[in-house]
Amino acid sequence: MSKEVLSPVLIPVYTCQICRQTITLKGPPIIGEAQEARNARVGQALAAHLGKNHQDDMRTIFLTSPYLSGWLIFEKFDHNDSYIKSKSEEFRRKLRAMTKRINVTDELIEQQVQKNCLMFSGPQQETVIQLLKTLRDTLEEVQTPNTATSADQAAPLAAD
Ligand SMILES: [Zn+2]
Repeated sequence: MSKEVLSPVLIPVYTCQICRQTITLKGPPIIGEAQEARNARVGQALAAHLGKNHQDDMRTIFLTSPYLSGWLIFEKFDHNDSYIKSKSEEFRRKLRAMTKRINVTDELIEQQVQKNCLMFSGPQQETVIQLLKTLRDTLEEVQTPNTATSADQAAPLAAD
């Protein structure tokens, strides 16, 4: 059984993605501090930076937070409330888009097929490429006019 070894980080540095300012915790490290307490201190320091320097972004975060808890609550129930269904689905899609880390582009698919699918050529390769693009679009819930739902036409969230 292997044991994961984490590299020690003596002084964590947080760089704001908006202004590139670095933020560090004030004061010396607290020996024996519970991770949750430390996380709370970090969250407070980062929130203070956003609140002081990026008020629009902080406002968006605060406006979005109730939608997350609302979505989590509504997802625990079966119901026939179409308005809540459409808003809940709209929020889920936005949250998914906001948290997505990998973007599979057409170019990436084409390069990978050309590099790794040497057993196929010409029209066969195009079929594989199209199949992978369709699979990607399905996984990413890309909407075409034929698959658009009423949730897609709903008004944007206040957090936009
Ligand atoms: Zn900043």
